[in-house]
Amino acid sequence: MNTPAFSVCVYCGSRSGTLPAYTEVARQVGTWIGQHNGQLVYGGGNNGLMGMVAQATADAGGRVVGIIPQALQTTENTRTACTELHVVNTMHERKHMMAERADVFLALPGGIGTFEELFEVWTWRQLGYHDKPIGLLNTAGYYDGLLSFTQSSVQAGFLNDWQMDLIRSGTEPTTLLRELVQAAGFAPESKLNRI
Ligand code: AMP
Repeated sequence: MNTPAFSVCVYCGSRSGTLPAYTEVARQVGTWIGQHNGQLVYGGGNNGLMGMVAQATADAGGRVVGIIPQALQTTENTRTACTELHVVNTMHERKHMMAERADVFLALPGGIGTFEELFEVWTWRQLGYHDKPIGLLNTAGYYDGLLSFTQSSVQAGFLNDWQMDLIRSGTEPTTLLRELVQAAGFAPESKLNRI
């Protein structure tokens, strides 16, 4: 396996959600990462969209870095087949390592764990702790409510437009992934082009 060209940290549900569109987008994201010689950095579980994105990345020949807290190994069903698996002591350690290993961040549909992770890297970015691009995949309008809420926060004077601009949202996974990876300074080249 080649040295990966870039790393995408994916935050997404430990459940699959009710629409087939959610699992489909997880599959598309993992496939794109693998096909472009990328590396997935994620929470290390087999459940839900997390497991799907990891499996799709591996199936497409990409590296999978899983980072899971010791205490969550059973509930989150550790993916022992990760190319690199890190079992860490705390959730803070996990999130810190995921952020360190990422070139870009991408949130897919998910629950409060996903929200927390997205908001954490968003707040870290506004404080200048990192300058990595952040994407939000608004599959089937899943994040419409969040986007309109944050827009109303701008109107209410608690958020500025420049803070909103720190997140790039989109509905088309491959377009959004390409934009994020390019914004981070990488030129994603399909492995298929080299055959
Ligand atoms: P969820 O979106 O709730 O299905 O969770 C997705 C992932 O986020 C899981 O791997 C959780 O362990 C993780 N996660 C990260 N931070 C938190 C947190 N503060 N509370 C709950 N889950 C979290």
